[in-house]
Amino acid sequence: MTQKIDLKNMTLPALEQFLRGQGKERFRALQVFKWIYQQDAHGFAEMTNISKTLRTELDDTARISNLTAEAIEEGSDGTRKYLFALDDGASVESVLIPIEGRNTLCISSQVGCAMACEFCLTGTFRLTRNLTTAEIVNQIMAVRRDIEKNPPSQFVAAGGDEDGDGDGEAVDSPAAIRNIVLMGMGEPLHNLDNVIPAIQIMIDGNGLQLSNRRVTVSTCGLVPEMKRLGEEIPNVNLAVSLNATTDELRDRIMPVNRRYPLKELMKACREFPLPGRRKVTFEYVMLGGINDTLEDAKRLLKLISDIPNKVNLIPFNEHEGCNFKAPTKAAIDAFHKYLIDRYVTVITRDSRGGDISAACGQLKGKLEKKEA
Ligand code: SAH
Repeated sequence: MTQKIDLKNMTLPALEQFLRGQGKERFRALQVFKWIYQQDAHGFAEMTNISKTLRTELDDTARISNLTAEAIEEGSDGTRKYLFALDDGASVESVLIPIEGRNTLCISSQVGCAMACEFCLTGTFRLTRNLTTAEIVNQIMAVRRDIEKNPPSQFVAAGGDEDGDGDGEAVDSPAAIRNIVLMGMGEPLHNLDNVIPAIQIMIDGNGLQLSNRRVTVSTCGLVPEMKRLGEEIPNVNLAVSLNATTDELRDRIMPVNRRYPLKELMKACREFPLPGRRKVTFEYVMLGGINDTLEDAKRLLKLISDIPNKVNLIPFNEHEGCNFKAPTKAAIDAFHKYLIDRYVTVITRDSRGGDISAACGQLKGKLEKKEA
């Protein structure tokens, strides 16, 4: 028997092409696409506005895959970690972060990671495989299903007034996912062939209907792929894990820097097509005693100053077998203040989900260490 084709690997244009190949009208693709993403159809039998003959034909050649969480853990701060077992026995994790009346979902793009950043747990397992487009969008759909049934308990309706116009901001439903960040396991730009269609499905008005300004791709700095991302999905948000301000240190803790040193990386950031007033997010993992001095802050500012920027400081999250240490509170505060005083938008990320190993750099699914 030939393998059935998973329709969740297809963008709407790809689905149109697939159905055209089967002699079907174009509008059928839109119908099927909406059933999959808006009605969360699990099978063709549910697609009641499509003829029975077509449904049977589809069922013979195609399938609609899904993910179900094998384990869900909730941390004391309301952060929820999902473990998904994949068809081949591999597994990945996604993390839901409910904060100030909004849910952000952090999803994975690969099983393991080839980038081998020294401070990151996922990196120590090396790459097992890329996730398919279906596996990427299915993380979102599975979490959406879970929170519709069981909204996060610590969802705080802040009702703040972020833009200062005095009217407070609209707060989302606790059962809605507002932001998607590709900051889980893997390097999304190392899997662009599957990540790009996944993002297209996320932002398609007939698909998952997320706004492109709510999708962020985070990279360790694969320069040619940053260019490709910018060309193919120019409106997505870009986050760059900078983490060091000299090539000497970056070469050591992030091997990718030996291929694309800081000068090239910053050039790629400058050239990334950003719409309107949007900014590149620079993530900076603070490693105690390694990159957390005011000299580092000063060099950081110099590196990013000619790029529309904001900075995310991430105090290192400790994990087993890694010798780096978290920075002191004083070092974090001083670094933060140095940047704020110079009008940089800075957020110091609190270590959400640390008690369930769901914080940045702590995801591993059920990966086992490979023999060296
Ligand atoms: N590969 C992508 C996305 C995954 S890593 C990237 O490099 O951006 C997501 C973020 O977690 C990155 O900014 C990374 O530098 C950070 N990170 C990795 N390990 C960490 C750790 N142990 N503590 C804190 N942040 C970590």
